[in-house]
Amino acid sequence: MTKVRFAPSPTGKLHVGNVRTALFNYLFARQAGGIFVLRIDDTDVERSTQEYEDGIRTDLTWLGLKWDETFKQSDRFERYAAAAEELKAKGLLYACYETGDELERKRRLQMANGRPPVYDRAALELTDEDKAKLEAEGRKPHWRFKLSGNPVQWEDMVRGPVSIETSSLSDPILIREDGSYLYTLPSVCDDIDAEITHIIRGEDHTTNSGAQIEIFEALGGKAPVFGHQALLVGADGGKLSKRLGSLSMQDLRESEGYEAMAVNSLLGRIGTSDPVEPFHALEALMEGFALSKLTRSPARFDEEELARLNAKILHETEYATVEARLGEMDAAAGEAFWAAVRPNLERLRDAKDWAALVNGPVTPVIEADDADFITAAAEALPEGELTEASWGEWTNALKSSTGRKGKGLFMPLRHALTGQPRGPEMAVLLPLIGREEVLARLQRGAA
Ligand code: GLU
Repeated sequence: MTKVRFAPSPTGKLHVGNVRTALFNYLFARQAGGIFVLRIDDTDVERSTQEYEDGIRTDLTWLGLKWDETFKQSDRFERYAAAAEELKAKGLLYACYETGDELERKRRLQMANGRPPVYDRAALELTDEDKAKLEAEGRKPHWRFKLSGNPVQWEDMVRGPVSIETSSLSDPILIREDGSYLYTLPSVCDDIDAEITHIIRGEDHTTNSGAQIEIFEALGGKAPVFGHQALLVGADGGKLSKRLGSLSMQDLRESEGYEAMAVNSLLGRIGTSDPVEPFHALEALMEGFALSKLTRSPARFDEEELARLNAKILHETEYATVEARLGEMDAAAGEAFWAAVRPNLERLRDAKDWAALVNGPVTPVIEADDADFITAAAEALPEGELTEASWGEWTNALKSSTGRKGKGLFMPLRHALTGQPRGPEMAVLLPLIGREEVLARLQRGAA
C-alpha cells in the first residue's frame, strides 16, 4: 500500500514551495489509491504554535488536499527517546560537548588549511572521566549520529541515481544541548512506524536523506523510496522574488483572492515537461501527473501566470460552483448575471463590482456634449422587456437617427448606464439591469 506524508513544521505559514510538496504527495497517493498523511513536525516546542498548525490545516483544506491520517510529533517524544537509546547502545549516537563558538573556530581553521569543514569527531575520544568533568563544569551534551563513512546510494524518483559520500559530511546532530530533537531522527522513527513507502520532498533535503537512510538501517527499518524535487525559483530563473518568498498561502487566498485550483494547476505543472494549463479539479490534474516528468532544473513560479490561470479558470466556472461564494460576498445576482460577467473576471471578488453595477445604485456619467444624445436614447429604448437582442436594435436605431457610430455611439451609453468606461458586454448587461432601471439611469443622467 502506497503511503506518503507531508511534514510541515508549524513554525510559520505555508508558502508556495511547501504547498508544491504537499500537492505532489497528495497526487502521488491518490494516483496509487494510497494514503496521504499530514504529519506536524512540532518537535521545536519553542517555535511551534497552534495557530500555525491550524493555518496549515486551513490551507490544505482550502486547496482540496485532504489527508487520510494526521499526527503530531510532539505526541511521540517517548518513541524518539527510545530510538535515541537504541542508537546510543549501538555506539551510533555519541555525546559532544563543543560550544557553538568552539565548533565555529574548528571550521575556520579547517577551511584556512584548505580542508572541508567536517566535524572532526573529537568527542569520540572523550573518556567517561572527561565527560564527567565537562558535565561538572555545567556543560550539557548534544548528540551526533555516527555516519558510516561509506557512500549511500539510491534511485531517486526525480533525480535518478544519487550517491552521497557520508565521509564528506559532518556527523549530524540529532539531539540539541537542551534535549530537543532536530527533525532528522523523529522523522525516521515516524516513517518507520507509519510504514511510509515514499518520501517526496525538496531537493534541499537530499543530503539529509543520505544520513537518514543510515538511521533507517540503524533502527532496523527499510528506507522508503525517495524523490527530491528541484526548488522553486522566480519567473526570471533567479531567486523567488521577495514578494513571493514572503507571500503565504493565506495571503494568496485572502488578500490576493486566487482560486485554489489556479494555485494547484500552476504548482502541479511548472518544472515538468507538460504545459501549464487550467484545471478545475485535482482529479483532472492528477491524470497526467508523474514525478518522472519533473525536470532537474528549478521550476519557475511566475505570479502573472498564476493570475492568467486564475482568470481562465473563472471564465470556465459554472454558476453552481461559485454561487455560495458569490452569496457570501454579496454578489449573487443569478445565473444570467454570472454568464454575463464571468468573461471579465480576473479574481472572483471582481464580481462584487459587477453585481453592484447591475443591482445599483450607480452614478451615471454623462458628458455635457452627450446630454441630448442620452435624452434621445431614452426615448428610443425598444418597447417591452429587454432581451439580449435589445442592445443591437436600440443602437442601430440610434445610429440612423443621430448619425453617431462606433465609440461615439456606444461609450456615452455605457457611461450613462454603468458609470464606467469598460465592463461586460452591454447586450448582456442590459436585460440584467432591466428596463425600468435603464430608463431611470438615463433620465437621472440627463437631468
Ligand atoms: N519538517 C521537515 C521540513 O519541513 C520535514 C522534511 C521531510 O519531509 O522529511 O523540512
